[in-house]
Amino acid sequence: MKRPERIAVIGAGVLGSSVGWNLARRGADVVLVEAGQPGEGVTNWSFSWVNASNKTARRSYFDLNVAGMTAYQDLARTIGPDAWWHPTGHLRWADDPKAGAELLATAELLAERDYGVEVCTGAEVRRRLEPSVAVPDEVPVVFFPGEAWVHGRHLVRRLVDLSVAAGATHRFDTAVREIGTHADGSVATVVLSDGSRLDVDAVVNAAGPSASRVAGLVGRDLPMRREPGAVTRLDCPRVPVRRAMHAPHIEIRPDGGSSVVLHSREVDARIDTEEDPQELARLLHDLARQVVPDLGTARIMRTRVSNRPIPGDGFPSVGSVASVPGYYEAVAHSGITLGPVIGRLLAEEIVSGQRRDEMLADFRPERFTP
Ligand SMILES: Cc1cc2nc3c(=O)[nH]c(=O)nc-3n(C[C@H](O)[C@H](O)[C@H](O)COP(=O)(O)OP(=O)(O)OC[C@H]3O[C@@H](n4cnc5c(N)ncnc54)[C@H](O)[C@@H]3O)c2cc1C
Repeated sequence: MKRPERIAVIGAGVLGSSVGWNLARRGADVVLVEAGQPGEGVTNWSFSWVNASNKTARRSYFDLNVAGMTAYQDLARTIGPDAWWHPTGHLRWADDPKAGAELLATAELLAERDYGVEVCTGAEVRRRLEPSVAVPDEVPVVFFPGEAWVHGRHLVRRLVDLSVAAGATHRFDTAVREIGTHADGSVATVVLSDGSRLDVDAVVNAAGPSASRVAGLVGRDLPMRREPGAVTRLDCPRVPVRRAMHAPHIEIRPDGGSSVVLHSREVDARIDTEEDPQELARLLHDLARQVVPDLGTARIMRTRVSNRPIPGDGFPSVGSVASVPGYYEAVAHSGITLGPVIGRLLAEEIVSGQRRDEMLADFRPERFTP
């Protein structure tokens, strides 16, 4: 593969902005094309927990997520921490014996893999870390000091600004409607929703939940799961939590300013039957106030149900597709954790014209090619 001259990155969420910035800083001619505004897609409606502790089942995926955590530390050193980066660790506990035993077994496995883990009691957590959390005194709580949360929209804005400073251009509020190809099947143009056409010789499909539709523009079938998730933002006069946490039925994190974010897999499971986002928000708020009573006075601000961008087998799809020279994918759930590492690895591959990193071997797009 030769080095492309001009690259359109389709979608400016955490993945597209990470790929775009890494391409631009390596001297590539990049145009970021975004149907809406940067960072306003799933990236803004995510729990945004940077971790590998929830991904122990498959070793290569765990390792990729650990690399994602390291990439964030590198990124914070390179671009400055700012309002997007919150390396405050993560708390997790359970309220039934089976889930509690599983959590402790996972903590043991993670410790064997040299992943930062501390097991404390509820009483210690209140004394040292989270005074407002109603976790029973004797319950074991696992603290992951190396984990973090990220403010996705602030991060994307930052990466877009840095991309522009490095020479990238952008077309926001403009969608890619068609991708034109040469006679040999290689990428030639993108046609935009305002009727204009850009000559390019590569595209990166970073369209998040719409990635399957964008893949269809080059005749590719990228199977994706349908797994919607609901996130609610509360407004609190005084934010009573200092870090992200997985309590038994609810996930809670600060969000900067007076905002707190709530999410729950149990509430997600009701989305098909409980279509009213206000009802989902009330459920989330009720669960949260049981864990952090001070959240009882908070006000529900906004709730959004988004589709997770999950390729069919649950793992990321990253890299080129041999049948369409110049077409690349950057599609992943856990995209918050993986954005910076995928951005760097994929950009290195695109500018070098070579597949380089073994870390992506299990996550190549071609596994979905019939
Ligand atoms: C409820 C929930 C909780 C989550 N929690 C976590 C978590 O704790 N940790 C974690 O790591 N991950 C989490 N995720 C997943 C994570 O949020 C996503 O993987 C990540 O945000 C995906 O980023 P993205 O850039 O691919 O997508 P997006 O942010 O959606 O960006 C894609 C962009 O592409 C644009 N676009 C689409 N089609 C076109 C087109 N034709 N032309 C131009 N632009 C287009 C869209 O407008 C959008 O802005 C969660 C997801 C959900 C839903």
